[in-house]
Amino acid sequence: MVEPDNKPKNRISYVYGPVTSWRSGTSLGIDPIGAISTCSFNCSYCQLGQIQNITRKRKIYVETELIIEDLERAYQGDHVEKVDFTKLDVITFAGSGEPTLALNLGEMIKSIKNWLKAKNLKAVPVSILTNATTLEDEEVRRDLKEADLISLKLDASDELSLKSINQAATGLSLEGIIKGIKLLKSEIDLSHPADSLRLSTKPELQLQIMFLPKFAENPEHIKRLAELITEIEIYKIQINTPTRAKPKSGKEYWVETRGNHYNSSSSHQEKYLELPVISKEQAFKIEDDLISLIGELQIINVYKR
Ligand code: SF4
Repeated sequence: MVEPDNKPKNRISYVYGPVTSWRSGTSLGIDPIGAISTCSFNCSYCQLGQIQNITRKRKIYVETELIIEDLERAYQGDHVEKVDFTKLDVITFAGSGEPTLALNLGEMIKSIKNWLKAKNLKAVPVSILTNATTLEDEEVRRDLKEADLISLKLDASDELSLKSINQAATGLSLEGIIKGIKLLKSEIDLSHPADSLRLSTKPELQLQIMFLPKFAENPEHIKRLAELITEIEIYKIQINTPTRAKPKSGKEYWVETRGNHYNSSSSHQEKYLELPVISKEQAFKIEDDLISLIGELQIINVYKR
């Protein structure tokens, strides 16, 4: 049942952008979480600011029909900027928190693909940015397998850095996260549903690692990450650093931070805090160190060589 305040004129749009992503080009954002920022992490660098609802609970945060309604509005330019779907490189689930907390994630992915088909629009790959905290749940893994690209966060190299960087919800451990990633990887390697609307036979898996200066300078951290990557056996790695400023909003959530159009010339400068980032040289050194510790890797570096 849709709540009255979810009527289009009174609610946020669950489709946003397109934004230009350094990882994947022109990306239309899908927000399966909504007006209250909700995540099982509360990362020190989160572009959404302080997470309002830190939880591991899966539930329907946004009805699937509202996502489709907002796609239709973006397509028509109905009270929102018209989106040219022919120019999209990817449709990305991220938004106001952790997408896998949405109980209807699989249904949303399928509905979006069916909607593109019904409109005779080109098939755009669907990507999910996840913090990988929910992957021990079989139903989450089933939902994720509907996507074309799954990008898994792995910032921490041990339980201590999980606490310090990601400020994980009670009950989460790096051990459990690694176990969940390995389960997803092994299931994807073994089989994939024949009736899926995916563009390729199986989803592509990537690891996204956020490097903060303090950790990037610690060779033990890099070494332990290399060991985890080898254990997980996912060899496409994104090296990232917090280039997006953090809102100084306290516990208030500004939905504009989903797509984060802030830059240093923005008139909103006083509302955001620039975070310490790793340098280009550090990013390339991490890349070289990981390759020498692991062997062949496909690396997408936030700084291009
Ligand atoms: S996992 Fe993503 S959404 Fe959640 S707190 Fe970290 S950066 Fe923010």
